[in-house]
Amino acid sequence: METILVLAHTENDGSLAKSAREALHSAATLHKSLAGSKLLVGLIGDNVQAAANSIAASPVTKYFGVTGTEFIQSRYATDAAAAEAVFKAAQATVVVAPATSRWARVLPGIAQRLGGRADTHVTGVAVADGKISVSRWYYRQRMEGALTRTQRPWFIGIDPGSQTACDCGAGTATVEMVAVNLTDASKRTTVVGLREPKADAQTIRPDAQLLFVTGAGWTKKQADGQTHVPEAEKLILGFLKQSRASLGSSKSLVDLGGEGQAVLPFLSHLNQIGQTGATPRHAKGFSTCCHGEEPHTVGWRFIGERRAISLDPNCGWARGKADVLYVADAFAVVSKVNELLAANP
Ligand SMILES: Cc1cc2nc3c(=O)[nH]c(=O)nc-3n(C[C@H](O)[C@H](O)[C@H](O)COP(=O)(O)OP(=O)(O)OC[C@H]3O[C@@H](n4cnc5c(N)ncnc54)[C@H](O)[C@@H]3O)c2cc1C
Repeated sequence: METILVLAHTENDGSLAKSAREALHSAATLHKSLAGSKLLVGLIGDNVQAAANSIAASPVTKYFGVTGTEFIQSRYATDAAAAEAVFKAAQATVVVAPATSRWARVLPGIAQRLGGRADTHVTGVAVADGKISVSRWYYRQRMEGALTRTQRPWFIGIDPGSQTACDCGAGTATVEMVAVNLTDASKRTTVVGLREPKADAQTIRPDAQLLFVTGAGWTKKQADGQTHVPEAEKLILGFLKQSRASLGSSKSLVDLGGEGQAVLPFLSHLNQIGQTGATPRHAKGFSTCCHGEEPHTVGWRFIGERRAISLDPNCGWARGKADVLYVADAFAVVSKVNELLAANP
């Protein structure tokens, strides 16, 4: 009989992030399919009552909390101590947590401490013949593997964005507080501040509906024999501002900076999509001035509806990589789209 514990940390405002609700959704799916199982939640943060209340109508039967100012910031030693204490109070056999950067670095460590096993980057959970199985992707998202484990405790890190967030409903939850004895050594690391790009410079938006991809064509010579990089910059930023899309890029375009060519200054390797880049999840994707070669499009595995604009009718997108290919000049199309977006905000 499994005891499933969802581990989550609260946000600075005391709420639960979408990734935590996704982990809860996965855990609730397991709980529903495993007869006799228990579903528990452990919350860590400055104050966890509001977060517990926000999911009080879920099938969770017990809430544990570790609270205090020491648990606001992400720090391996205090997060691991809190997670271990909650785990012991809950006597869990399976722990499900969102694979945020905070939990991803702690889960394997606690698993080791407790003689368990950890699986990271899990994108699916299921129960078959009474056994839990988890799935994840291998070889740059080309192959999906499903695995089961007999070892307990089993720590499962759910990739944010891969699940539906639990819309559990609010209420009033009773939280059992768990005491954690922290030594001075466990508080040695201090977060002195956060550096973030300005809101309008933040072009990577994992929660956006649309992924807008730019390719090297934006910086290439156009029909008039000239490059038009400042105009490309204006069009791309204009589109992003109005659509709130997330910005992705081909490798060729982000590499240009290193080759001393004209570049789009707001792009970095963090925007790169593909085999050696990211594999984001968005409902729709819109590619511009990109050829759609396999090492790039492999990063589109989790993009739903795909459209592309290229001047080349024989480009990769035309070979089954896109749902719709517009053989057109992206400068003209994006300019018109921006005009329409401005007229219909
Ligand atoms: C081991 C390995 C790993 C790789 N990993 C990645 C990766 O992770 N991500 C990645 O992206 N690539 C990766 N690549 C590189 C990849 O194979 C391609 O070289 C790269 O994606 C090409 O980028 P591009 O399509 O932007 O540029 P190009 O191939 O130069 O294509 C530009 C396109 O823009 C079009 N164009 C030009 N002007 C216009 C216009 N006005 N309107 C419309 N279209 C226009 C052209 O017709 C052309 O199709 C990898 C390669 C290798 C060998």
